[in-house]
Amino acid sequence: LLTVKDLHKSFNDREILKGIDFQIEKGEIVVMIGPSGSGKTTFLRNLNFLEHADQGSMDFSGHQIDLAKPEKKDVQWVRRHSAMVFQNYNLFKNKTALQNIAEGLIYAQGMAKDNANDIASKELASLGLSKQAQLYPSQLSGGQQQRIGIARATVLNPEIILFDEPTSALDPELVGAVLGDMRKLAEAGQTMIIVTHQLGFARQVADRIVFFDEGKIVEEGTPQELFDHPQNKRTAQFLTALS
Ligand code: ATP
Repeated sequence: LLTVKDLHKSFNDREILKGIDFQIEKGEIVVMIGPSGSGKTTFLRNLNFLEHADQGSMDFSGHQIDLAKPEKKDVQWVRRHSAMVFQNYNLFKNKTALQNIAEGLIYAQGMAKDNANDIASKELASLGLSKQAQLYPSQLSGGQQQRIGIARATVLNPEIILFDEPTSALDPELVGAVLGDMRKLAEAGQTMIIVTHQLGFARQVADRIVFFDEGKIVEEGTPQELFDHPQNKRTAQFLTALS
């Protein structure tokens, strides 16, 4: 579905991504782990042009894209076929839960407002959040806000969803419901790249774990391979420090 080649990105002369090669198949779930500052978030943000790469190329569903000089139509195409879930939810504060979910359908996909509201309303019902439909983000718990963030992404039917530490801003008791929504998406065959420190969840849902360190992918494998038999010294150290 998506292949990235030789992605480089610097901030202020500091190279944060040092040549990333990565690919993900349709329906695959890849979890990215690694130390803070190793470049995981930056990698995701380069995939959907929230940051602009210095070098690299991407093939997304047969669209060949120069990441350093993307054409406007490529940027639009990628944004229309992917979605991102952010650490801090990034909901519109002046819109209700329902409006936040309907927003992308109306503005990105040009859907009529009634249709979009209908879809958003059904999505809320399926999540058991109908009661929250008319509430604003400030009236929702962090967990509910993030569940709305995920719903907003999924109603767009994206080919891939990028999750950037979706539970790391949440109180521990709110994490489970968010991971539950993600688990359901996984079961439904949604292609996802997930940056997370939730290793238990990663072990359960990931097809592949990618370990990032100092701007490079240093090791990848199945959860069993990577967690139980890490080959790289840095991977082993990272996992030991977390356990
Ligand atoms: P974390 O788990 O802490 O989110 P990460 O692996 O996702 O870490 P990134 O957030 O990608 O790491 O950050 C990698 C490095 O790039 C950090 O040193 C960060 O300070 C730097 N960085 C990220 N964005 C910018 C920016 N817009 N301007 C300057 N430096 C940045």
